[in-house]
Amino acid sequence: MTYRGRFAPSPTGPLHFGSLTSALASWLDARAHRGAWLVRIEDIDGPRTVPGAAEDILATLERFGMHADEAPVWQSRRTARYEQALEQLKSTGLLYPCGCTRKEIADSLLHAHARNTTLAYPGTCRSGLHGKPARAWRLRVPDGAAAVITFEDRWQREQTQNLATEVGDFVLRRADNQWAYQLAVVVDDADAGITHIVRGADLMDSTARQIYLQRCLGVPTPCYLHVPVVTNERGEKLSKQNGATALDSDRPLEALSAAARHLGLDLGGSTPTTLDGFYGAATAAWARRMGARV
Ligand code: GLU
Repeated sequence: MTYRGRFAPSPTGPLHFGSLTSALASWLDARAHRGAWLVRIEDIDGPRTVPGAAEDILATLERFGMHADEAPVWQSRRTARYEQALEQLKSTGLLYPCGCTRKEIADSLLHAHARNTTLAYPGTCRSGLHGKPARAWRLRVPDGAAAVITFEDRWQREQTQNLATEVGDFVLRRADNQWAYQLAVVVDDADAGITHIVRGADLMDSTARQIYLQRCLGVPTPCYLHVPVVTNERGEKLSKQNGATALDSDRPLEALSAAARHLGLDLGGSTPTTLDGFYGAATAAWARRMGARV
């Protein structure tokens, strides 16, 4: 098998220490496997996309010495493929239009919470729209044992999620007509032939949905590895929203060494003074750390 990995940033702001750590982990894993490393700009969420942020992220990756093996893929240019995938799923009968508003869903979840039952979408529109206008498209998840998705994460070990009780039928096309991340990511990874996904552990919760979607679309499931997220002093995931600062592009080695430390990599006694030196030591440390898991 030829290894193909990727880094898939959302251009909501410049690269920061948290996203650099994910980029570095995916880059090192690709290098340790002598595989290809690709970059995908996840710019389909129109309201969250910041103009110029994608170009800024791509330029920072270059300055930090992470060069993609192929031209970057832009999700905003791939909507025809998402349309096709949605049509394919409609033909399987697994997709249905949903007319619930956010408030209706929140209310029913509140009731469920009070009754101590499921917090998943209750499937209100499974049996029809009940006179409401269609707003979103949802994918029906199986009931019973078939709802349980188990996978081996290369860092965090065995993971299990029950899609019926923990998630419920999930949205693939949102009420505001935007494509859901879950659909775009699965279609893009499959089309790019991605074999290994290395990303932050905040996306662990999405993985079972993505594996289920891969099965529904008849595409292969890649290997997963979720690295610990970088948090601020309040324990929140570092993001543009909670004040993560942009990286200092003049001092890439400093930020990269800190990212390597966050990943638990031991670069040995000497501090690398060049990017090549850093990547050589970090790739060897990654291969050692992942041991048989690589
Ligand atoms: N675009 C997502 C993010 O920036 C990452 C998606 C992925 O790696 O699957 O959080």
